[in-house]
Amino acid sequence: MQSPPRLTDGFGRHIHYLRLSVTDRCDFRCTYCMAEDMEFLPRAQVLSIEELALVAEAFTRLGVNTIRLTGGEPLVRRGLVTLCKKISALPNLRSLAMTTNGARLGLMGAELRRAGVNRINISLDSLREDRFKALTRFGALDKVLAGIDVAREAGFDGIKINSVVLRHHNLDEVKDLARFALERNLDISFIEEMPLGHIQSHQREQEFVSSEELRKVLSEEWALSPSAHESGGPSRYWQAAGFDARIGFISPHSQNFCDSCNRVRVTAEGRLLLCLGNEHSVDLRRVLRAPNIPHPVEALMEAIVDAMHIKPERHTFSERDAPQIVRFMNATGG
Ligand code: SAM
Ligand code: SF4
Repeated sequence: MQSPPRLTDGFGRHIHYLRLSVTDRCDFRCTYCMAEDMEFLPRAQVLSIEELALVAEAFTRLGVNTIRLTGGEPLVRRGLVTLCKKISALPNLRSLAMTTNGARLGLMGAELRRAGVNRINISLDSLREDRFKALTRFGALDKVLAGIDVAREAGFDGIKINSVVLRHHNLDEVKDLARFALERNLDISFIEEMPLGHIQSHQREQEFVSSEELRKVLSEEWALSPSAHESGGPSRYWQAAGFDARIGFISPHSQNFCDSCNRVRVTAEGRLLLCLGNEHSVDLRRVLRAPNIPHPVEALMEAIVDAMHIKPERHTFSERDAPQIVRFMNATGG
């Protein structure tokens, strides 16, 4: 069988990972991710399930072997299971992953596994009900915990917990969160907050906690040694003595991971974003919706290959005077 072509950017980086946002909507309003009164995209501007599947096909034909569905909250998107079935059946795809807030996993976890999703990341920033509510504005902790239980039963190849750490909101809980994950044999990644979108709930600089500081806090509880484990993402892992599961750190500020960037994102409205921290993008929806387009997948492939030339070398989150990115994480495809 002929091996698929490689998608390579102008800096020689091989792109094999796509984060595909299936909606910008969400049933939560996490304070670090969204403003309270968000305006969401009109439905006609969001890619249909068929269009999302064509985008996925185009990328896999260009050698992308890992697709992570995200949002917004992917589980609120109607037709999600159908989309998962279509994508997981694509030849060349090795992994269909998803990032979710977990609230609907109790209802959908087993069905998603059957539809071909093999890895799942679940966001969990607090184990205290009142605090969880305050951080997510609309979330209920018990539903998410029940969702995690269902996911563990459903037989995914991997389940990971993701926690964004904010100094005055959950830094005092990181040991509890790590213990929660390790005792259930789940990996956990702690994420430095990124300046995506203007929010009113807190001053991002005052909440920032570096991965280095966090690792020191966790080392008070567990002996941590560097792990060679690679999840294909930006997390750098440490092994906690006595456990099989790992603790990871995603450090966009303190440890720039751009050199090894292997990914691009497509937003729910079909904007191909070449970098999380820059605005360089190409409108794939325009390609898809061009009148009388005989071969949409081939047209998409051409646009994607062309777009590789504008993938920037790096983001600038760590530079104090760098401009904030105005789009919110839910619009970016986290
Ligand atoms: N709704 C799903 C969820 O919460 O897992 C998927 C989308 S969410 C945008 C993806 C991930 O981005 C979540 O783990 C969330 O905690 C993280 N996130 C959102 N805004 C962020 C920010 N400003 N900085 C760092 N991580 C952020
Ligand atoms: Fe929704 Fe996820 Fe953003 Fe929270 S982080 S508001 S769950 S999209």
